[in-house]
Amino acid sequence: MNLTQKLTQLQENGSAIWAANFYNLETLKGILQASAEMDQPLILQLTRGSIEYMGLKPAVAMARAMIEDYDLRAWLHLDHGDSIDLVERCLGAGFDSVMIDASEQPLAENIKICRKVVELAAPFSANVEAELGYVAKLGQSTEKVGFTKPDDAQFFVAETGVNALAVAIGSAHGFYKEEPRLDIALLKKIREAAKIPLVLHGGSGIPSVQVRAAVKAGICKINVATETKKTFMRNVKNEVLVQEEIDLRKIFPVGIGAVKKLIGNKIKILM
Ligand SMILES: [Zn+2]
Repeated sequence: MNLTQKLTQLQENGSAIWAANFYNLETLKGILQASAEMDQPLILQLTRGSIEYMGLKPAVAMARAMIEDYDLRAWLHLDHGDSIDLVERCLGAGFDSVMIDASEQPLAENIKICRKVVELAAPFSANVEAELGYVAKLGQSTEKVGFTKPDDAQFFVAETGVNALAVAIGSAHGFYKEEPRLDIALLKKIREAAKIPLVLHGGSGIPSVQVRAAVKAGICKINVATETKKTFMRNVKNEVLVQEEIDLRKIFPVGIGAVKKLIGNKIKILM
């Protein structure tokens, strides 16, 4: 089953899958251990930054090998692809899915770029995710947020042929100063109009009750990234402070275990 089929099925059933970003071997391991223990599939995501950090080939090879080792069902996705060139490289490296994020461009330009990516992904049967409306990036003011308009969504999907749509309904990347309030009524309208799987970015820190309401209303992929970084670093930092240990293989498992617990708790929200 390719990811588009999986997402469509999840949306029909009113359920969703977590899409977790990984940054190194340790965060990857923690995420997959959670998936294995809960016996739930998930999506592994890489951003340009993580690809540049690990190298495209090593990151993909490591993810594929570990998925096989744990005997899991998992898909590999490019998160926030910012250029056609990066999308092409990821498709060539065997990604199951790519996001092209031209959400900061005017609608016509967003459509033009997404149409090109849909064309490139077709021979690979890869899933294509785009963003419409604007979900604030880490460190940006949430005032910049432009909620997705249902009419635009309908037009955008028809014009581009994308398979999944990241929507702006009140979430933001990173952490929230105040509790976020997702606009579920708007989400329902977008679903009616777009008629394709919908994605929620900024999944770190949205209260479980709101996550479940969003899933019921059509969200079938939820991204979690910032919380993983924070959890890993906090735990490793604490461990380094209390021990003289220089063997990183004894320190890092603390971070792996914390990531496993975090993702395990996320998975539980949707079970
Ligand atoms: Zn995002």
